[in-house]
Amino acid sequence: MMAAISAADSGNQVVLIEQNDKLGKKLFLTGKGRCNLTNACPTEELFDNVVTNPKFLYSAFYDLDNVKTIELFNLMGLETKVERGERVFPKSDHSSSVIDVLRRELKRKGVDVRLCTRAVQILCSDDSISGVIINARGSEKTIDADAVIMAVGGKSYPLTGSDGSSLKLIEDLGIRVVPQEPALVPFESGDAGVLSMQGLTLKNVEISVHSGKKMLYSGFGEMLFTHFGVSGPLILSASSYIGPEDYKKGITVSIDLKPALSREELDKRVLRDFAKGQNRDFANSLGELLPNKLIPVVIKRTGIEPHKKVNLITKQERQQLCDILKNFEVKITGNRGFDEAIITRGGVSTSMINPSTMECKSINGLYFAGEMIDTDALTGGFNLQIAWSTGHLAGKCR
Ligand SMILES: Cc1cc2nc3c(=O)[nH]c(=O)nc-3n(C[C@H](O)[C@H](O)[C@H](O)COP(=O)(O)OP(=O)(O)OC[C@H]3O[C@@H](n4cnc5c(N)ncnc54)[C@H](O)[C@@H]3O)c2cc1C
Repeated sequence: MMAAISAADSGNQVVLIEQNDKLGKKLFLTGKGRCNLTNACPTEELFDNVVTNPKFLYSAFYDLDNVKTIELFNLMGLETKVERGERVFPKSDHSSSVIDVLRRELKRKGVDVRLCTRAVQILCSDDSISGVIINARGSEKTIDADAVIMAVGGKSYPLTGSDGSSLKLIEDLGIRVVPQEPALVPFESGDAGVLSMQGLTLKNVEISVHSGKKMLYSGFGEMLFTHFGVSGPLILSASSYIGPEDYKKGITVSIDLKPALSREELDKRVLRDFAKGQNRDFANSLGELLPNKLIPVVIKRTGIEPHKKVNLITKQERQQLCDILKNFEVKITGNRGFDEAIITRGGVSTSMINPSTMECKSINGLYFAGEMIDTDALTGGFNLQIAWSTGHLAGKCR
């Protein structure tokens, strides 16, 4: 939609082809239905939040950065607000408002929007675009065109229409595609103790994620336990740094449940808690230190008899407890796949695209935009910013 608006702005006659019966099906789901459309951080920080190929986005981000994106949406009639973490949302709290302004703008710019229409083949002659074959309700037609901007999305949440199948159109043209993987995706674990804590949210914890001795990610924030394993902002971010090979080798999430306390401070804190009731059972002495759901799991891992009186707990046993509180390990068996991934990693190789125009290096008039390009970012509005910026640049450069 952004690419079509921008291409129309540059004086092109534009046809927008969408296979769904409405525009923006995935956009509708974003930000839990509120659409976190960008982030109001300083523009340089956009790059820090891009996990794959940030440098490729230099021209796109400076053509339409986050500040200009907000201005553009405001100009199109969308009121916006900034929330915690500089996340930008429509003032209405409805993603449909974002879709509405885009739809209105498409109409105002005279873009010919064809719904329920699928692009089935990109046509080229002499390494230049000549048109597209479309299929609308079973009948095929050719649209002549001297440029095509592809913005077919990734592979996550395939029910929205972005199922990765359209990448075949460009593979047919010999364009290199980096294998697609789910990212910003929850982790599965088979650990019964972990699964017993479903519904528990941990705030202000530090996690590090390892594959063997290699540390893949560390971060501070919030996570939660679910019926299948672990999720929440920290886990989703971690998943963006983990590749298929890492999953094969085995991944462990280590949670520091008390990151504000050094080991010595934690030991003193445990001693103070024990001193509040010398004759209390161990199992009844951790209520001020840990949430209820975590207590039986931690106790089991210490190997200390739950009914042991705290005044009988040895220094060594206390150390064992502190070790677990500082390094609570969750073994990961895999991730939840594309059905639950917020974003897709991989796609059209950036080596095939001119970063100043988004045009394909090997086919004149073929442009790429959005999630189908091999670049992805963390949560916070950065993935949509990639889509707006690359779409805007592609439309402008054609
Ligand atoms: C649950 C969820 C929440 C998210 N929340 C946020 C958020 O708050 N903030 C954020 O920045 N990002 C968020 N994202 C990521 C963001 O939605 C995507 O990065 C963004 O939508 C990518 O835009 P796109 O235009 O490249 O692809 P898409 O939005 O996937 O659009 C691609 C479109 O192309 C159509 N299409 C595909 N092939 C064809 C074909 N051959 N012919 C015709 N049409 C075709 C599809 O039907 C689809 O409508 C979220 C993602 C999910 C799944």
